[in-house]
Parts: sequence; C-alpha cells; structure tokens
Amino acid sequence: MSENINRTVATVAVEKTFFSPGCDYDYYVPADLCDNVKLGTAVRVPFGKGNRLRNGIVIKLYAAINSDLKEIDSLISDVPVLSEELVSLAVWLKERCFCSTYDCLWQMLPRGYGRIKDAGEKMAELVITDETQLPKLTSKQRSVTDLLFDVGTAAVDELCEFCSVGQSVIKNLEKYGVLRIYKKETYRNPYANISADTECGEITLTDEQKKAYETYLPMLDKGGTGLLFGITGSGKTQVYLKLIDKAVEKGKDVIVLVPEIGLTPQVISIFRRRYGDLVAVLHSGLSLGERNDEYKRTSKGLAKIVVGTRSAVFAPLRNLGLIIMDEEQEHTYKSERTPRYHAADVANFRCRYNNALFLMASATPSIESYSNALAGKYVLCELTKRYGDAQLPQVITVDMKAEMKSGNHTPISAKLRELLQETLDNNKQAILLINRRGYNTFIACNDCGHVITCPSCSISLTYHSYSNKLVCHYCGYTKSLDTKCPECSSENIRYSGYGTQKIEDTLEVLFPQARLLRMDADTTSAKFSHDRMFSDFAQHKYDILVGTQMVAKGLDFPDVTLVGVVNADNSLYDENYNSSERCFDLITQVVGRSGRRDCQGMAVIQTVNPYNECIEFAANQDYKGFYSNEIMVRKALVYPPFCDIISVSFTGENDNTAAMCAKSFLDILKELNSQNPQKLIVLGPSPAKIHKLNNRYRYRLCVKCKNSKNVRSLFNEILNKISKIKEYKEISVSIDLNPYDLN
Ligand code: ADP
Ligand code: ZN
Ligand code: ZN
Repeated sequence: MSENINRTVATVAVEKTFFSPGCDYDYYVPADLCDNVKLGTAVRVPFGKGNRLRNGIVIKLYAAINSDLKEIDSLISDVPVLSEELVSLAVWLKERCFCSTYDCLWQMLPRGYGRIKDAGEKMAELVITDETQLPKLTSKQRSVTDLLFDVGTAAVDELCEFCSVGQSVIKNLEKYGVLRIYKKETYRNPYANISADTECGEITLTDEQKKAYETYLPMLDKGGTGLLFGITGSGKTQVYLKLIDKAVEKGKDVIVLVPEIGLTPQVISIFRRRYGDLVAVLHSGLSLGERNDEYKRTSKGLAKIVVGTRSAVFAPLRNLGLIIMDEEQEHTYKSERTPRYHAADVANFRCRYNNALFLMASATPSIESYSNALAGKYVLCELTKRYGDAQLPQVITVDMKAEMKSGNHTPISAKLRELLQETLDNNKQAILLINRRGYNTFIACNDCGHVITCPSCSISLTYHSYSNKLVCHYCGYTKSLDTKCPECSSENIRYSGYGTQKIEDTLEVLFPQARLLRMDADTTSAKFSHDRMFSDFAQHKYDILVGTQMVAKGLDFPDVTLVGVVNADNSLYDENYNSSERCFDLITQVVGRSGRRDCQGMAVIQTVNPYNECIEFAANQDYKGFYSNEIMVRKALVYPPFCDIISVSFTGENDNTAAMCAKSFLDILKELNSQNPQKLIVLGPSPAKIHKLNNRYRYRLCVKCKNSKNVRSLFNEILNKISKIKEYKEISVSIDLNPYDLN
C-alpha cells in the first residue's frame, strides 16, 4: 500500500515495551477513527512480529506519508483518558526519570481505571514494603505484588480480577508473609463522614500570616514558586486555607500534597470539614474501587481540591491554580520506583503549564529549596512566631557518655527520668523518639567477634522480645534465638543497641503506673491503626508515646509537654551527604511537638555527641544557623545544591556479573563522554552499602554533574546500550536523578 497522500499518524506509547529512550511507535489512524483519536486517547495497537494487540496511549498526532506503518486497531475509550497537559508532562518526565513514556502515563491513571466493580469484602495489603525484599515469586504472584506496590491496598476480588489470578495465588502470598488479608470492617474511611462544618468561618490571620498570604495571592493568577518557611506551630495551615478559599472563589483547582497520609490525619479532617465534597482524598488506604471513584469525581470536575500523597500530584484537575507541598523536605515526595520522579518537579511543570502558584512549605526546608529561595528563585515568606501564646520548648542536651560513666546503663538518663516523672505528676503527656524498632539491634559473640547477620542480606539481625526471635528488618527472615555462637560455640553472646521494645520495657519498670503506647512498624501494620492510635493518644488514653520517626511529625497534641529524643546519634553517621540535614530535620520536628498550647514545653536530647553542631542547632531550633553551616560544607565537598547527582544501581543474583555490568557501564560512559565531554565527577562503581539484599548483590555508580539535556541523553544512551548486552540480561540497571538515599 503506497499512497502519496498525507495521512494522520499517531505516536503511541505502548505498554510492556523494553526500555529504550524515545522509543514510542507510530501508527496510521484509520479514517473512521480520525474524529476520535486525540492526544491522551487509549488505543489497542498491533505490536511486534505476531501483531498481538497491546494497549497504548496516543502522545502525538501529525500528518505524514509513510507506507510502512501499521494501523491503530481500535479505541479503548471514546474520550481521552488523559489531558493534553498530562500527556506533555509524561513526555517531559520520562527523559528525566530514565524510563519509558508509558511508565509515566501509567503512573497517572488509577489501576483498573474503568474496569473496577464495587469493592469486595476482603482486603489485601503488603507486609513486605521494600520490593528488593520479596522472595522468589511466580509471574502470577509477581503481578499481584506489582499491583500492590503501586496501589498499597486492594480488595482481594479486585486483585483476582485485575491480575487474572485465582484466590489461591493471594492466599499463598499471605502464607509466605508477603501480604496480609483482613476483613473490610477493620477498614474505615474516616474522611467520608466528615461533612462540611458551618462553623469553619472566616479565618483571622496574624500579621505575619497575612503578609505571607498577600504575597502569594497574586501568584494564583500569574504563577511562580513560593517557599513558606514557618516554624512548627506558626499556623502555615491557616495560610493554605485562605489561599485555597480564594482559588476556589476564582474557579481554580487545588492540589495539597502531604508527606504521608497516616501521619497527617488532622490535616485531612481540616480540609474535609471546610470544603466538604469539593475535596477528594487520594491515598493508599483506599481500595482500588474507592480510589477510582475519587479519581472520577476529580476528572469530572466534581472535586476541586485534591489532598493526597506523592502521586496525587498527577490528579486530573483541569484548571489548576495552586499546588501546596506541605513539609516539602520530606523524602516521601521522591519516588524510589519507576518512574523515579520527585513530586516537586512534577508540580513545577504543572504550575508553569497552568500559570499557577506552586507553594512549598516547611519548618525545616531542604537545603536546596532554601538556597533557591535566598537566590530569589522562589518567593520566600517567613512565619517566625508560634500562634497565640505558645512558645518553643526549652531544650536540654544530655551527654550519654557522662551518664554511663556515672553508672547509669539504662537508655533513659536521670534528667529525662526526672522530667518524665514530673510530666506524669502534672497529668501531661510525653513523646519519646527512638529510631529503631525491636529490642536489641546488634548481637555478637564476645569471644570471636562474630556478628549474627541475615543469611540473605549483609545486615545484622535484630532481637524482638515479643516473638523471642531474631529478625532481619530488610527481608523479613526470622530465626530463633542463638544461645551459642555459630562460629566458635561460645555462649558468651552480647546483645546491644536498643530499639522501641527495649525502651518500652525500661519505661514499664521505671513508671509502672504510666500508660504506654508504642508505635512502630510492628504495631501499626493495620490500615488506619495510625489514626486510631493518634486519636487515642490525643484523647489522653495514654501517658507516654514511644515510637520511631512516625511519631515525630505533623502532630498537634495539646497535652504534650515533654519530648525526649532517646538517641540522637542513630541517623548522624550513615554515609549520605544529607544525613546532617535529616538529623536536624527530625530533631527539630519532634522537639516542635512539645508545648503547643499555653504552657511551655520541655525537650531532652540524649546523645553521645553533645557538641555535634547539628544537634546544637536543632536544640536551639536554629534553622538559619544550621543552614549557613551546612551550605558551606556542601559547597566545599561539592554536593547539592552545588551539583546534581545521578545514581546508577546494578542488582543481580550473581555478584560477579553485577560487578562486571557496573564496570562496563563506566567504560561505556567514558567512551561516549569523550565524544562530547560533559563535566562529570564519577564515584565508583563500588558495592552498595548493603551489598547483599535478599540474595541479590548490589553495586552503585555515583556521578556528580549538572543536570542538563546533554547529560540526561548521555545516560539514556548508556542505559540503552547496556540493555542490549546479553551477558547482563539478568542484571537490573536503574538510574535515579538526585535520589534521597545514596545507599
Ligand atoms: P504549623 O502547621 O505551622 O506547625 P498549625 O497550622 O498546625 O501550625 O497551627 C498551630 C495551631 O495554631 C493550630 O492549632 C492552629 O489552629 C492554630 N492557629 C494558627 N494560626 C491561627 C489563626 N490565624 N487563627 C486561629 N488559630 C490559628
Ligand atoms: Zn564466637
Ligand atoms: Zn535479610
């Protein structure tokens, strides 16, 4: 068939194609479909030698004469499933995420879009939350876990239908400890029955809040990026609400991003109460069906305000005026799975596209954002005072080495103990932060020095007192307690390092009357258990809350007057360039939970490094001091914001092949870069910090560079070349631009 007339050609992003950059496929649009095929239309196309039909989405339309093209087979939907804006976003994003266009488009649609029936009774959710920790799975099991990694929770019926598997596949996954199944009754949507409240009237802003509001207001129409830097308790939320009121009044749509739904139950109810059904909530606690409903309400224009976690940044709103990113420094905004996007980059694209305001906010902005604000790239407003009479807590730093010398070998210092007693006597509440779960985090032989590690991972096992077992926190491996060293049979085994369970035990002994609540990954695995525990604590059903990071942020409990950081050193010495920033952020945030009403709070920071600058700055709640110090370090060592980092990871079952693959990657990099040299600083390749994880060996290559089109296309090209080398077929290679973690 060779005709010399122009025909309409559609470029289609096709599902399940192997990675190769720019590899989308062109098809003729048959004459009878010409009126219906638009950007964002979902189609079926013949693919490959066998012309098996595959799903795809139209990302470009043009006229051409080309006799070699196949024709689109049929439409999946009569109207486009994605807007032109989201299609261009996907095309923009894929090049930055080193993945295919379809990977990005797929991320924007709810799973089972248009195929989901009513939600079933039994729900399933993953127990293993890190993909690298999964045991070997069949392809059917794999499709179930893939879906769950995408969506978090789903009804069992939905999983069966959507993955075309029987119930037994899911039951087996439960048996292997990969997922758990629970009855729908334990699931409740605490937001659905919060109806609009007429009492939510006019907000009277303080002078500082008003100034911020008036600065950002005109940007709803003219666009731009803002950074609202407000200390904990300064009322950032009030500024959001006022801006949202105005945006809605102007007929504009709003996205509010929060770091993690479980940690911000209070935020959601504030929005539901104020805006009622105009709010759609998108997060992983909903079933696929429910999520699909919220998605539909949004794309039909019934919901104008979307509140949700990272992926809510793709919400199909048509007339965006405002995107808010609360606690913008949080790592949860960066996706660690394909597509490896940062929600801030996506928000930036969408706000530029719509001339909308992108407002980031934090009490401890990321070093990158604050430096952009100081450079005038973001419009900076500050809230320096807590609302009302609330004062920042008084902070005491305790030297734990001195404490040990004085004979106290418990993890609770004399000072913290005294203040806990005082808090209990005054009928107030306390929060204790400890960064590890379990009882003892390190078990070793005193005679030969052998450390008890996981057989599948290069990680030491943690002792859990409740199950009386040793557990690998990475792959879930468990074994019973060793009384003898497996190397030398000595019985002189040392248990050291402590986690939440040990603290709970210690407190039980010290304060037998106190009501203790422990929150960590072991106690909060059920959906909405966060909400329930937080609300019980808020109602003062407990006196002391002991927990990991999850107790540190975003909470506003009136009766909490004491916060203790049990061990401020845990996060300090991991080898990330941003570890001081993370430590500062965590301590500042948790300290900020204390004394949020009329009485001044106290905070105790226990550390073996009392003179560490990062801890000192956090104790003084001195962000600017911390920033000026940290920015000099970053500059001297060339780390972001003074460069970008591309991290390439190589993972495979054969240690040697993975290492070889990393080496070949570097060779290709050197060769290609000699043609059109980009300034690059290459670190590695070297074994990853956790070299072996779930029997897979891991290598890393780290490249400091300036994120530019040339650099990105260089890496896209290497990835393409590597994927064609047969020997490395088993190795998974992924590229991450500015990852949060370099491990
Ligand atoms: P942030 O998010 O900055 O830590 P919040 O927005 O949680 O602070 O505010 C802290 C407390 O002060 C909340 O209980 C909030 O209701 C109250 N608050 C702040 N600003 C105002 C205001 N202008 N009017 C009434 N209450 C306010
Ligand atoms: Zn030994
Ligand atoms: Zn393990």
